[in-house]
Amino acid sequence: MSETSPRLRAVLEGIPTYKPGKPAAAGGPVAYKLSSNENPYPPLPGVMEQVAAAASSFNRYPDMACTALMEELAERFAVPVSHLATGTGSVGVAQQLLQSTSGPGDEVIYAWRSFEAYPIITQISGATSVKVPLTPGEVHDLDAMAAAITERTRLIFVCNPNNPTGTVVRRAELERFLDRVPGDVLVVLDEAYREFIRDPEVPDGVDIYRDRPNVCVLRTFSKAYGLAGLRVGFAIAHEPVAAALRKTAVPFGVSQIAQDAAIASLRAEDELIGRVGSLVGERNRVMEGLRAQGWTVPETQANFVWLRLGERTVAFAEACEQAGVVIRPFPGEGVRVTIGESEANDIFLKVAEEFRKES
Ligand code: PMP
Repeated sequence: MSETSPRLRAVLEGIPTYKPGKPAAAGGPVAYKLSSNENPYPPLPGVMEQVAAAASSFNRYPDMACTALMEELAERFAVPVSHLATGTGSVGVAQQLLQSTSGPGDEVIYAWRSFEAYPIITQISGATSVKVPLTPGEVHDLDAMAAAITERTRLIFVCNPNNPTGTVVRRAELERFLDRVPGDVLVVLDEAYREFIRDPEVPDGVDIYRDRPNVCVLRTFSKAYGLAGLRVGFAIAHEPVAAALRKTAVPFGVSQIAQDAAIASLRAEDELIGRVGSLVGERNRVMEGLRAQGWTVPETQANFVWLRLGERTVAFAEACEQAGVVIRPFPGEGVRVTIGESEANDIFLKVAEEFRKES
């Protein structure tokens, strides 16, 4: 065998690896997974029927253009079909955004800490990440982000609500920020958790994008719609950006099963949004419960809560796991805990209470 190995791109060295939320341990007395911001409800029977029907023809390629899904989305959001693009989850669309805008020498700005895929997909593209720390209150520092824009900036992510803190950017500050961004820089409003927002001051990105050709809204079927395992996300943006996203999509990347399940989910929206309402109720119960225990919890508008624990992060995550709930630690920083079944949320609250008393 030859001594040499294929030459790989240097930018891949030191790339952070995406750490998926740990699965719940098998065989334990109770095991709840609160580590990936998933929807705890099982798929709806009507959606399952569509999945079964689509599965009967998986010897065929899917509709590459996602025609029926795009038409359904266009109607749902009152946008032209030409302003839509789909991908394998919204993380797939985010990667298409990088491929469409950024390469070596370019800069991509985002808050930190935020969604952990941003540094990975930026580095893969060859562009440079410019990470702007969240404020001490764990929210986007939009003034600092605007100040970080240079001639090399090509893309800015605004994660609203922010993963993992759940905090939001409100309308007036977002508009003020967007007014400061040059028109040739694309601003991506990552709204993966949009449906969980109850703060009326948080704008719907789709309203913002209409008058702003450099704004792109990123949405997913993974969270509120409960299709995380099927991988379908989409973007809404003006024609040139949406067209670029369609060009950079992996051909046939969204399976027919995913497309048909997404359409069925849009049609079952009332029921799914009802489930979201229950999760929002649980979220508020958990947030208030933690605060009553004496924790400082940033106001969350997503389906998770953030506890800044610093050096105690790993010990806290271990205590949760021993009690039967798996959460997401960011060692040295804090934990992100997804809102799950109410029994799971109760277990988490109990661990938090005991941990608080002990430390
Ligand atoms: N954006 C944010 C902010 C997220 O938290 C996630 C999922 N963790 C995604 C995008 C990607 O979700 P998906 O690829 O499943 O659509």
